[in-house]
Amino acid sequence: MPKYDYDLITIGAGSGGVRASRFASSKYGVRSAVIENRRVGGTCVMRGCVPKKLLVYGAHFADEFEDSQGYGWDASDPGFNWQRLIEGKNAELERLEGVYHRILREANVAEITGTGRIADAHTVEVDGKSYTSEHILVATGGHPIMPEIPGIDQVITSDEALDLDTLPERIVIVGGGYIAVEFAGIFNAVGVETHLILRADNILRGFDDAIRNTLRDEMCNKGIKIHCETQVNSIEKENGNFSLRLDQAEMMDTDLVMYATGRRPNTWGIGLEEAGIALNDRGAIVVDDTSKTTVDSIYAIGDVTDRINLTPVALAEGMAVTETLFGNNPTSVDYTNVASAVFSQPPVGSVGLSENEARAGHDIDVYMSRFKPMKYTLSGRDEHAMMKLIVDQKSDRVLGCHMVGADAPEIIQGFAVALKCGATKTQFDATVGIHPTAAEEFVTMRQKLPEHDE
Ligand code: NDP
Repeated sequence: MPKYDYDLITIGAGSGGVRASRFASSKYGVRSAVIENRRVGGTCVMRGCVPKKLLVYGAHFADEFEDSQGYGWDASDPGFNWQRLIEGKNAELERLEGVYHRILREANVAEITGTGRIADAHTVEVDGKSYTSEHILVATGGHPIMPEIPGIDQVITSDEALDLDTLPERIVIVGGGYIAVEFAGIFNAVGVETHLILRADNILRGFDDAIRNTLRDEMCNKGIKIHCETQVNSIEKENGNFSLRLDQAEMMDTDLVMYATGRRPNTWGIGLEEAGIALNDRGAIVVDDTSKTTVDSIYAIGDVTDRINLTPVALAEGMAVTETLFGNNPTSVDYTNVASAVFSQPPVGSVGLSENEARAGHDIDVYMSRFKPMKYTLSGRDEHAMMKLIVDQKSDRVLGCHMVGADAPEIIQGFAVALKCGATKTQFDATVGIHPTAAEEFVTMRQKLPEHDE
């Protein structure tokens, strides 16, 4: 008779939790269960990456129809139906939810519906029922946070933006990070007058400045109104109209307000502190290199640990935990050169160090190319792409590879492999390009930028 009900109980059936419980069962044959109180699939599949990307695809047709005219097509006034896009997106999410249930079932992972609360180092309670397990994995993700200002209860977050019944004529999006920039692109492309309000002097803090500047200019060029160094002090709603009081005592009227001012780990109400699990000052679970918390039998992965909050990172952390626990092989995730993308319009792809980060520890050469993509010659679209390489002078290694422009995420994924392998600029130069593509620019840049301040 086993000592515990399960070998692994996971709280949270998002990307990381599903991957860990599934691998534990199917690869190591252990008895595994996963607890979820919302839809299986978590933020990425239900409220984030997947529905957002479907809306980005939908929105991008606006440009495609315009561009097609320069290529001989007559598509000058195509109709657009937002409800149909949302219905299609919802149907796809239902399909994916079914897929998730099926893969859990086929892997023999027990699904428990409800909110899990850790009662002790080996026990989780769900709605008054106790389940014991040798190991517990916390993968509860995060949720949007907003500043506490008057009227904030009337705004929406990305959760609701993905499910709007009708499109507003005007929208204000507050924030300048991934989510704000991506949704600004979606709403603007489908004809909503879009204002982006951010407190910083530029969008996408942490990215290379050339990316930030290029994307900001391209977004403005597409008609998005970006208000930098601006704070919203209060929001009033009357007869469907929102009035925002800004910090320079200015007022701005709009039809809908969306906040994308960051996310916080879901650590509340699940018994973490009572069980002796330490949280850091940002409210995230403190873990070691193998994702172990301050309680030996309890591990944590994904956004609830606030390391790199990206789905593929949570997947890697989930697999590393199963390897550590059941493969008798303590495994940590390598967080260097994790590529990321912003599905803005145009999109961004980035891997490695920004110029500022690289300068802090290296003598570097910088290569940059800015050009009008070939597709826009006939269509006449006034949109540019930017590509940038940061190279360590001493070792010749490429430290950073950044792009704004069509297909940037697809292109950067390949170059991420090169950076992971430690590729040098000489090896980039020795690579024969594929012509005519935008990506070939990365292997044909020969002219260093002169010394400059970024
Ligand atoms: P981010 O942390 O990326 O951005 C938050 C933004 O809100 C920043 O511009 C920040 O400004 C601003 N902000 C924070 N607090 C306030 C405040 N009180 N008043 C005004 N502005 C404020 O968060 P997101 O919500 O955009 O995304 C959360 C995370 O989700 C991302 O970090 C990323 O890990 C993940 N994500 C990844 C995606 C992808 O891979 N494509 C897509 C979407 C999300 P400042 O810069 O001044 O601090």
